Amino acid sequence: MHYFNYKTNNLYCEEVRVSDIVEKFGSPCYVYSYRTLIEHFRKLQAAFKEINPLICYSVKANSNLAICKALVNAGAGLDIVSGGELYRALKIRTNPKKIVFAGVGKTDEEITYAIKSGILFFNVESEAEMESIQELAIKLRRTVNVCLRINPEVDPHTHRYIKTAQKESKFGLSFSAARLLLLNRERFFNVNIKGLHIHIGSQITEARPYIQAVAKVSEFIKEMKSAGIKFEYLNIGGGMGIIYKKETTQTANVFARAIIPLLKNTGLKIILEPGRFIVGSAGILVSRVTYVKETELKNFLIVDSGMSDLIRPSLYDAYHEIVPLRKKSKSRQKKYDIVGPICESGDFLAKDRIMPQTEAGEYVAIMCSGAYGFSMSSNYNSRPRAAEILVKGNEYSVIKPRESYLDLVRKEKIPRFI
Ligand code: PLP
Repeated sequence: MHYFNYKTNNLYCEEVRVSDIVEKFGSPCYVYSYRTLIEHFRKLQAAFKEINPLICYSVKANSNLAICKALVNAGAGLDIVSGGELYRALKIRTNPKKIVFAGVGKTDEEITYAIKSGILFFNVESEAEMESIQELAIKLRRTVNVCLRINPEVDPHTHRYIKTAQKESKFGLSFSAARLLLLNRERFFNVNIKGLHIHIGSQITEARPYIQAVAKVSEFIKEMKSAGIKFEYLNIGGGMGIIYKKETTQTANVFARAIIPLLKNTGLKIILEPGRFIVGSAGILVSRVTYVKETELKNFLIVDSGMSDLIRPSLYDAYHEIVPLRKKSKSRQKKYDIVGPICESGDFLAKDRIMPQTEAGEYVAIMCSGAYGFSMSSNYNSRPRAAEILVKGNEYSVIKPRESYLDLVRKEKIPRFI
């Protein structure tokens, strides 16, 4: 579901013609639909209404301040994984009591910053991290709340790079490591273990792996209860999938119906950390075709964005639908590789894609690029990052201007000795 639709053969974002945006702000650019964003958040809220969870939007999916602010205004908390994301969260005045901090490599600096900011809790991923938090809490004379991130060892049936609950995974604590920490919790006298956290992977299209994970965690909660250890929170992470191609992914309602009974049984306050589900289909990447190149084996559409703007196809072999901004009434279908200008053979946006014959100078939209698009972009090949534009109804605004060549070198210095 999204609000990018054709009207009289032109692609619109809500009530704005996308070609008007690109003519004004240039190409490539990310265009986001406010309504799509907020409706996805509301869908989750409504589906889980019965248990009223805290929904912490996962900032890594799309960390633009305007996107985060829109969600925070709608009632979201934030899931962060770095000092930089904490800075963003505080910059838009997120209530620190709605911020949760995950990640396997939190530095002392980041932990100190978060303790001083008074976040809700850290999701602790190792004993060593627990020790660091304890030491820093003593130093700062604070008591710090944490949840333990458990690796429940379930298979979420998604791309191997975005599975996070395999036995060999770097994330979280095994049940036995968590048990040891909990039974020896008096060692960490400045730390309150308030609950448990899981995040089993991303782009998960079915409830089954969550059910398996929550069932395992529920057993553990019972075991700990009988050892006199009680929790307040269960955070089930993010990971809900979206439709990129023709995946039969569950809706928020189907997911909620499947998982709520288990969650209710725990008697704990529930936290969700969705990223992709909320922002994935709310964004497109618009690109101009620079050249059409036909070789013996392939037809290439060489566009002005590439893996530095949207790395998902190169990194995960991810599929994104690619459509023209203007539909032509009569055009024959052709097979293309849609590739970027980056000097890597892995720089492609789509392979062997059948689409209407396209000429140089025309524009295409790479759909469902709102999550892990701009936030994973880079300056590789010294390419300035694309502009980002947010549309709401018939209004739109640049939420990040295109970078300039000066931006590329702004912080660089040539030392005297060369
Ligand atoms: N929570 C944690 C701890 C994560 O690592 C991630 C993504 O990597 C998310 C939430 C968000 O995942 P998704 O965008 O798939 O919902």
